[in-house]
Amino acid sequence: MLGVVMHAPGDVRVEEREDPKIQYPTDAVIRVAAACICGSDLWPYRGADDVHDAPMGHEYVGVVEEVGDEVRNVKPGDFVVGSFFASDNTCEICRAGYQSRCVHAEPMGALGTQAQRARVPLADGTLVATPGMPDADLVPSLLAASDVLGTGWFGAVAAEAGPGKTVAVVGDGAVGLHAVLAAKQLGAERIVIFSRHADRQRLAAEFGATDVIAERGDEGVAKLKDLTGGLGAHSVVEAVGTQESMMQAIRATRPGGHVGYVGVAHDVALPGGELFFSGVHLHGGPAPVRRFLPELIQLIWDRTIDPGKVFDRTLPLADAAEGYRAMDERRAIKVLLTV
Ligand SMILES: [Zn+2]
Repeated sequence: MLGVVMHAPGDVRVEEREDPKIQYPTDAVIRVAAACICGSDLWPYRGADDVHDAPMGHEYVGVVEEVGDEVRNVKPGDFVVGSFFASDNTCEICRAGYQSRCVHAEPMGALGTQAQRARVPLADGTLVATPGMPDADLVPSLLAASDVLGTGWFGAVAAEAGPGKTVAVVGDGAVGLHAVLAAKQLGAERIVIFSRHADRQRLAAEFGATDVIAERGDEGVAKLKDLTGGLGAHSVVEAVGTQESMMQAIRATRPGGHVGYVGVAHDVALPGGELFFSGVHLHGGPAPVRRFLPELIQLIWDRTIDPGKVFDRTLPLADAAEGYRAMDERRAIKVLLTV
């Protein structure tokens, strides 16, 4: 089969990879219908993470081709959505709603779903079947649920977005934009996006943002305080993962408020004294997307939400290298790969 391999930073190729097979009785093998490139794939692409001949991709939707002997919840022919972490969905951590930290969690990125087929471990716990075969126009939204929508949603939940709240979102990539969508669905009163890019501001407004702040860092925090009677937001979603974005999120949150951090942290160090006196709640990490998948699939199936709008470029799998370049150069918010 064909799959994406990153040989080194900036060196992405689509090449022949070994076909996946059932290895454990709890596995499924799916034929990938669509995959995509994640903002987090840009970390190794830019040399911020080590990478050497790695299969790529952790977001996926597809049709089950084969299941192991112990798989009960999905069957060949089902259209399925799964999270970027495989999880058993039965251990204590899973049952508490933290499937991405399952005691048996396996990162799908190590298996590489930017490919024609993929092995999904712990299929019963990981995969959720859609109510039927989706119309083609629903596929991008279902794919978004696999990571970026689920991650933005968790960011908003972790930040306790809800009725009467002012929610601010740091980061205008796909996850930040979906945090806006989530905050709107969760009933937030006012939703502020920090963004300097006209195309992303437009999409944020479509998803429910009421205000845009173009400034970043402490200047952005000052603008947000102007909008909130000097207090800061009740809820702030951090969707970048840098020192600057994390401090912006903490400083933008009022005392007693909540920060939901979902940007993969890179060299973030929190100053204890400032954190102590901020009086904010911090919660985040790799999103337990599996917790939200049934609800998100239903919202998409009923056409209540259209998170697939975040894909502004579609390329065949064979052109994945151009997709990486386009996202790296910010010519695309998020690239969908048709398989
Ligand atoms: Zn578990």
